[in-house]
Amino acid sequence: MQITRPHAAMYASPGMGHIIPMIELGKRLAGSHGFQVTIFVLEADAASAQSQFLILPGCDATFIDIIGLPTPDISGLVEPSTFISIKILIMMRETISTLRSKIEEMRHKPTALIVDLFGLDALRLGEEFNMLAYIFMTSNARLLAVALYFPTLEKDVEDEHIIKKKPLAMPGCEPVRFEDTLETFLDPTDQIYQEFVPFGLVFPTADGLIVNTWDDMEPKTLKSLQDPNLLGRIARVPVYPIGPLCRPVDPSKTINPVLDWLSKQPDESVLYISFGSGGSLSATQLTELAWGLEMSEQRFVWVVRPPVDGSSCSEYISPNRSELQDGAPDYLPKEFISRTHERGLVVSSWAPQAEILAHQAVGGFLTHCGWNSILESVVSGVPMIAWPLFAEQKMNATLLNEELGVAVRSRKLPSEEVVLRVEVESLVRRIMAEEEGCEMREKVKKLKDTAEISVSCDGGSSYESLSRVAKECDPLLERSIMARGA
Ligand code: UDP
Repeated sequence: MQITRPHAAMYASPGMGHIIPMIELGKRLAGSHGFQVTIFVLEADAASAQSQFLILPGCDATFIDIIGLPTPDISGLVEPSTFISIKILIMMRETISTLRSKIEEMRHKPTALIVDLFGLDALRLGEEFNMLAYIFMTSNARLLAVALYFPTLEKDVEDEHIIKKKPLAMPGCEPVRFEDTLETFLDPTDQIYQEFVPFGLVFPTADGLIVNTWDDMEPKTLKSLQDPNLLGRIARVPVYPIGPLCRPVDPSKTINPVLDWLSKQPDESVLYISFGSGGSLSATQLTELAWGLEMSEQRFVWVVRPPVDGSSCSEYISPNRSELQDGAPDYLPKEFISRTHERGLVVSSWAPQAEILAHQAVGGFLTHCGWNSILESVVSGVPMIAWPLFAEQKMNATLLNEELGVAVRSRKLPSEEVVLRVEVESLVRRIMAEEEGCEMREKVKKLKDTAEISVSCDGGSSYESLSRVAKECDPLLERSIMARGA
């Protein structure tokens, strides 16, 4: 008798911050849980997904297919100025009929469908094709909690938070400060509110909610989400923390100009600065950051991209990934590069981040607080300067700074006010040169240890969580359980 692997179909949303964890989840299901995995991505992302993340040692690509679905033309459905999240949502929605045809054509039918937050409309395919359907939060439990809770709020409670700017109390969780609330939730008349807030009501219709986090990273929120008397009452379906899933370090990338440069620097002496796959700064902020960095007299690797006034996520879908820049970018202060070249390296647009953070020379990370960046920093034991720009990054910064104590942050939000050079200098020195930074490094290393334990196949909590999902989706296991009358 031919043993057939259980088959999971996964629907990833555009953006490296979504594709990378989806692929890592696929790799985990294929590698440790015996699955066949098909990951659907929008075509524009297919090539880079294949080349950058799949062909890595330790990953048997036999059991993973990445299928590119044609990127739909949504120009008639949105304005050029429409918010990026809405564009992604509509692209994902418009692709569902193609996804349906692809699943229909499959000879080995999937028993599970795992969709990204932006692909919730695809959940209905679960019922159509008799698949268990899961939502994969590539971000954290905190965002899941807020997204679940927000649409259940009474009008007056919502007004207290949004209009009167009072913190929002969530059962069993830390309250959400008004300043940390996602832009999505601020204005009920806005399309983004109307599209995204009802999402929370869809979550309980899935068979389970998979989250890229682990117990020690977000203990309180996870407990609440799993407690039927707290947020579990609203979730109504199991919540599976399975993280941290991060892109592993690629040994073939060790020959890289940035890593070569890092290898010549003392241990834990370099600050790495990056705003994710598409974050950008205003021209004024870029100048202040450059000056502050120079004044701090610390070593750095800075992934810079041209300034953009009025938008902090300008390159989100298709960042320009040229590597090292030969000349000095003209948007940096005059002669910045020549003045700092002995202790700093400027990289244009894109750098091998996982490898950089894992390098022993890196001792701090100034990050926009994208969840993947945070996870990569934690698993490398690197403390952070939290510099949130958009989406759930402000909540993430609060988690790092106030709850976990592994990051410093500016007094005002960088998305609201320019952080001046004196404050930049102080933040950099606090993390790289002062006792506070050393203490945070110790704390983040402890957190790193918990991350390793959680994904260990030797009874780690995240490993066990994913095993539960895997068991549910394995028709052979299910049949044998039924045969045993369980
Ligand atoms: N990334 C990278 N090089 C860069 C910028 C980003 O490899 O120069 C990767 C980074 O390692 C992370 C992802 O892109 O895995 C960014 O995801 P995150 O959630 O941090 O932020 P987003 O880009 O979604 O805002």
